[in-house]
Parts: sequence; structure tokens; C-alpha cells
Amino acid sequence: MNKRLNGRPKIGVYICHCGTNIAKTVNMGELVGFASGLNSVGVAREYKYMCSDPGQEMIKKDIKELELNRVVVASCSPLLHEHTFRRACEDAGLNPYLFQMANIREHCSWVTPDPAQATAKAKRIVAAAVVRVVYQEPLEVKKVPVNPNVVVVGGGITGIETALRLAQSGRKVYLVEREPSIGGHMAELDKTFPTLDCAACILTPKMGAVGQEPNIELLTYSEVEDISGYVGNFKVKIHKKPRYVDLEKCTGCGLCWTNCPTNIVPSKRVIRRGDLIINQTEVG
Ligand code: SF4
Ligand code: SF4
Repeated sequence: MNKRLNGRPKIGVYICHCGTNIAKTVNMGELVGFASGLNSVGVAREYKYMCSDPGQEMIKKDIKELELNRVVVASCSPLLHEHTFRRACEDAGLNPYLFQMANIREHCSWVTPDPAQATAKAKRIVAAAVVRVVYQEPLEVKKVPVNPNVVVVGGGITGIETALRLAQSGRKVYLVEREPSIGGHMAELDKTFPTLDCAACILTPKMGAVGQEPNIELLTYSEVEDISGYVGNFKVKIHKKPRYVDLEKCTGCGLCWTNCPTNIVPSKRVIRRGDLIINQTEVG
């Protein structure tokens, strides 16, 4: 026997009517009969509301009395009740990851009005879940350290607002902007739709707040080069372009601009002409 099967599977399949949500389209008797005949299925049952206490009790009782080692519930979206049924399995002593949910409501009865077609589709969904659960392995929940810092890419009004809100909720935020200053397109506008408020009046206080927020590290004239890792533990490589000035000492007086021999202003703009979008680098 394949080692990955973790012993001989004995699967319980539970098919939910969801009142009439599923039962009025999918032929329940036919589906239960079909599920009973699938390989490794020890028992197949139907019930009006599987997520109710009696529905969950039925599953727990079968796990204990019939010694089921895998469970499939054919009902609604896992978003709604996967946790409910995993907990029921765990309460009965079964590893919760030996459970598989088959969505025969959102993926079937709600979108397939023809009863014959819906029943055929529900059979395929249930059969797939049964095959899949056989290969699932018991898992243990582990706690791992997570880095809660956040990188916000883009220092336009959206990035600024996002960074401020996250920082004010206690997160360390790295705000990365490829241009020499934050502000984005809003800094180029006079008024904003639909209230025709002065764009600078909205933007500049927020730009100032970013500079004063101790939880925000502002990385202007910088670009994200690489992102690796996974949720909770990303590594982000950021390229800081050289400015050739000491930002701590610069007062922003602008004298160096008039004396600069190259006189290039790296400001990248997007100009929209009809459906044509042009990326343009301006040379002053
Ligand atoms: S388990 Fe889902 S499909 Fe079944 S009754 Fe509850 S909500 Fe409806
Ligand atoms: S001349 Fe003025 S703007 Fe230029 S680097 Fe020096 S302090 Fe900054």
C-alpha cells in the first residue's frame, strides 16, 4: 500500500440539504447512493442542516462508532463551515486535517438550475473530494515567529494613507517610493474630484505626518528589487539610488540645482492620450 495513504482509509461522506438550497436541485437520494459506492467510503448519509448541532453530532458519533479515519462533508463553501467541521472531527478524536469539504451549493446547486446536470456535477465534486481526502495527512498546528513589519510600495496618496494608518496602529512601516519625493500624481493636481478640494491642502499635511511618524521609515528614490519568503516572513531587497547629498545636512535650498552641469530632473510621468498610455522621463 502507498505509504502516503496513512493506513487503510475509511471515509464518512455527509451530504447536506441546506434546507432546500441544495436539495431542491440536487437529487439527494441519488447522490448518497453514488457516494456509498465510492472506493474507501464506509458510510454515506444525508441531513437537512449538517452544520447544526445534531448534524455535527452525527459525524462525531460515526467517527467513534464506525472508526472512520477520513471525513467528507458535501455542503457549502469552506469559507463558511470548514472550521466548524474540522472542530467536530477534532472533538471526536480525528486529526482535523483528515477532513475535506466539497462545495455542492455555491459551486453546484446555486449555479446549475437543471436538476439532472446539478446532480451529475455534485457526483463529480463529491467523488473528487473522496479521492483527495485519501491522500491528506494528519497535520499539527505549529506556532512560528512572524515579522509584523510592513513594506508599502508607492508613496502616492494611497501609499501615504496606508503607511500612516498602519504606523498609527503600532506597525513598523517601510514606505518605498521610486521618485525623490513622496506625493505621487496628487502633488501635480490642483483640485480633486468630486468635491474640488485643493489637492495640496489634503496631501501636504499627510506628507508632513509621514516625516514625523516614528514608525515610518521613508525610503525615497528607492525601488523594490526582490521579494522572497512567504506570508509572515517575507524578505524584501530594496535598491536605494545614490543622491550624492547628505540628507541629514541638506536644507533643500536648491542652490545645487542651478549649478548642476547636467540639469536633469528624473521625474517619470504617465501621460494618457485616449487609450494610449505613454511613460515619459522628463529632462529639464
Ligand atoms: S453546512 Fe452549509 S450547506 Fe449545510 S446547512 Fe449549514 S450552511 Fe447550509
Ligand atoms: S545646495 Fe542646498 S539643496 Fe543642494 S545639497 Fe546643498 S543644502 Fe541641499
